Amino acid sequence: MVFLLIGPPGAGKGTQGRILSEKMHLPYLSSGDFLRELVVKNVPISRQVKLYMDKGELIPDSLMKELFLPEIKKLIVTQGGVVLDGYPRTLEQAKELESLLLSLSLSNRNIYVIELTLQKNELCKRLKERVFCPSCMRVFQNHDNFCSFCSTRLAKRSDDTMQVIEGRLRKYELKTRSLHEYFSNRGLLLTIPGEGSIQDIASIIEQAIKEKKLDIN
Ligand SMILES: [Zn+2]
Repeated sequence: MVFLLIGPPGAGKGTQGRILSEKMHLPYLSSGDFLRELVVKNVPISRQVKLYMDKGELIPDSLMKELFLPEIKKLIVTQGGVVLDGYPRTLEQAKELESLLLSLSLSNRNIYVIELTLQKNELCKRLKERVFCPSCMRVFQNHDNFCSFCSTRLAKRSDDTMQVIEGRLRKYELKTRSLHEYFSNRGLLLTIPGEGSIQDIASIIEQAIKEKKLDIN
């Protein structure tokens, strides 16, 4: 099974994606974490990726295809599925992913797209208060100085400044919104309001998945 988490930055995709991955016993793969790790690795492509990320720009589709799709494929082949966070972000990426899934014999009944929605002012507030763990990549709101999972000192993300946040949300509106229609037309979309406690949202997601399964069978 493949789960895709879509929605604006700050809507809780990472948090819910990790919970879902534990529940479903599937690996969690975040495009953002993947790219940040790539930057740290300092391989030839790192500088180019860093430039886009520091500006809060989306990595071009062609580059994502080259870097990230093989990673998705590897996990599906070796572990039977994946919980994907932050990919696809554009229509082009959605189409590429779809053909990859088809080539791996995954049909629509094995694909769940979870869209987390949130009001813009709430998004801005969350992004401003957000800190992350540079070691295990978990994200926290209004948190102490250290990661509760691995005790590493938490940091601000370089792309969580107000100016960059506004830009990212605008780009999200422009590019990612078309995904809503795309997945909705395929009957894959489960839209979940991202407001409420982490646990409540997790249960709503779980329930929506169960209902979709029942619908199919
Ligand atoms: Zn940590």
